[in-house]
Amino acid sequence: MSVHPRVFRAAVALFAALLFTPAIAAPTKVALVPPSGARFLEGQRFDIRVEGLGAGPFTATLTVDDKPVAFTSGAQNTTTTDGISPAGWGGFNVRAHAFRKAGLHKLSATFTDSTGSVSVDSTVHVVGLSGGRGEGEAKNIIILLGDGMGVSHRTAARIVKYGVTAGDPNGRLEMDAFPGLGLVSTHSLNSIVTDSAPGMACYSTGAHANNGQEGVYPAHTTSPFFQPRVEYMGEYLHRVRGTSLGIVTTADVEDATPAANAIHTGDRNLGTGICDQYLDESSNNGLAVLMGGGRRWFLPATQFGSSRAAKNDYAGLPADVMAGWKLPAAAVGVSDPDRDLIGDFQHAGFTYVEDATGLRGIAAKPPQRLLGLFGYGNMNVALDKVAKRRGTPLPDGSYVVDHYHAPDQPMLDEMAEAALGVLSRNRRGFVLMIEGAHIDKQSHLMDADRAVGETLEFDRAAGVARRFAEAHQGTVVVVLADHECSGFSLIGALTGGVAAARALPSDAAVLDPKTLPARQNIAGTYDNAGFPRYTFLADGYPATMDVDGKVLVGFGASGDRYETWLSKPLPVTDSLLPDSFKTELGKIGYVKEPVQRASDASGFYLRGNVTGGQAVHTASDIPISAYSSGSDLWREFGGIQTNTDVFFKLMRAALAH
Ligand SMILES: [Zn+2]
Repeated sequence: MSVHPRVFRAAVALFAALLFTPAIAAPTKVALVPPSGARFLEGQRFDIRVEGLGAGPFTATLTVDDKPVAFTSGAQNTTTTDGISPAGWGGFNVRAHAFRKAGLHKLSATFTDSTGSVSVDSTVHVVGLSGGRGEGEAKNIIILLGDGMGVSHRTAARIVKYGVTAGDPNGRLEMDAFPGLGLVSTHSLNSIVTDSAPGMACYSTGAHANNGQEGVYPAHTTSPFFQPRVEYMGEYLHRVRGTSLGIVTTADVEDATPAANAIHTGDRNLGTGICDQYLDESSNNGLAVLMGGGRRWFLPATQFGSSRAAKNDYAGLPADVMAGWKLPAAAVGVSDPDRDLIGDFQHAGFTYVEDATGLRGIAAKPPQRLLGLFGYGNMNVALDKVAKRRGTPLPDGSYVVDHYHAPDQPMLDEMAEAALGVLSRNRRGFVLMIEGAHIDKQSHLMDADRAVGETLEFDRAAGVARRFAEAHQGTVVVVLADHECSGFSLIGALTGGVAAARALPSDAAVLDPKTLPARQNIAGTYDNAGFPRYTFLADGYPATMDVDGKVLVGFGASGDRYETWLSKPLPVTDSLLPDSFKTELGKIGYVKEPVQRASDASGFYLRGNVTGGQAVHTASDIPISAYSSGSDLWREFGGIQTNTDVFFKLMRAALAH
């Protein structure tokens, strides 16, 4: 084959040009937040940020609805970036922006480095307040969040509590009896499957966040606490109406769900900084009640059970964040692992209690502000708390709650009652979030009996909230979940009785598909499931979960596990505990993953669908139940809605004008 010389010369020239002309570069990863599709309430505050990766010096410009807007850090059209962007990145921010006009708004930015320029824009939607419902329909807002609670968790709790006769349930849960019922889609900003941080934050901010992030938009900053903020429901209502905020959980109070009501961080795992921020920004968020586990973050680093450390603290909140959000001086933050945070809460006017006895002691005369820390990490689950109250120990005479160094913990309904006593002192109203945290945690661990016990405990708290609402007009109560966990499903009931199940040999070695494991053979399906019956004691919990014909649960989003179908005497070691506690628990026979249960019980080995040793969250819709006193606001929650819709429905009722 021959090539014409002219063609050959042209090809050589083109090749040389490609080789010797510098590539046209430009900054990469240029991003503008809030992103397109974000929604805000009229007057709700949020930060705007433009950032990119490239070769400095960096400059940027911003217009909002075609009008130039000056940055509050990272000066416009200068070479000054904001000082909180990592090496190689430039960032420019506008703090605490708000729109007064409902409808669509356009943000446009250019980001320039020494090699070129990139333009980005986004369109956000502002939801107006006018034309809303009547005034005072949501003076008090109570959000009951059953973490990980799907339809099947509720069904399981109902069957266990009431049983079924001839095809009909013999009773309804408290939450079943709420008049409003709908479905909620639970996706986050960056996945169909959310984790608990954006899962809660979508209800408390109206904004989708990335997994692991709460009260912020994604960004590259030197500390996750410096990421662009979006205002919480509690902050907004405190600012414009003077409401109080209550946070009640059975988890460690640093955990994602409680923190996603008041804390602004791009990393949900920074316990020291998260717990400091609760107090240091309490004049902005109106915090009056904080109850749960997590004492480890409140004790100086040198004390027994402390987890405080510089590596998960924050320091030096940028000046423009402080100014824009009008934060008190303490909020700037310092690295202080030796801080006595309980003492600092007390100095700020909080009454501190550390056990159920202490909580009962304040019932007659609720204080102005209340801090309750009932465990070092997560609190224990309902069935383990109840075992101690009943005096029914493990075979060796010990109690799980004692192993966790928290012998006298309140139940969630008792905490809810105490929280309402404090919060109802504020005549301007309140926002209260009550979390049943272990519905999720025990579903992750595929411990069906403990997960059902948690759902029963959570439902009692829903009853407390409803009775409060009945007595206090203008209260709205929503019961929902941040996501479903584990693909929890009711597959049938045990056949052949508990004693026979106990006597079965281990099926651990049965891996041949042609051989039927004995434990698979006693899972009664269809007609063989029949109608399980449990006995309840006066304390409101089952006498035992191991009844003949007990409900059997399968996990559609499972990790590897051993399954005996019977109650597990010890829970799997909780992940949110001081490290020294985990070591102690290991020595007395606790295991770290459900697959390790083989060591304490003969079992049936089930290979999971996913890696990581635990069941995972699913993308399923979750049910929402609603009740409101003095209005039919509950009707708003019928049908199918996206998770952020719940925020706008509650807030439009709280702020209607
Ligand atoms: Zn969750």
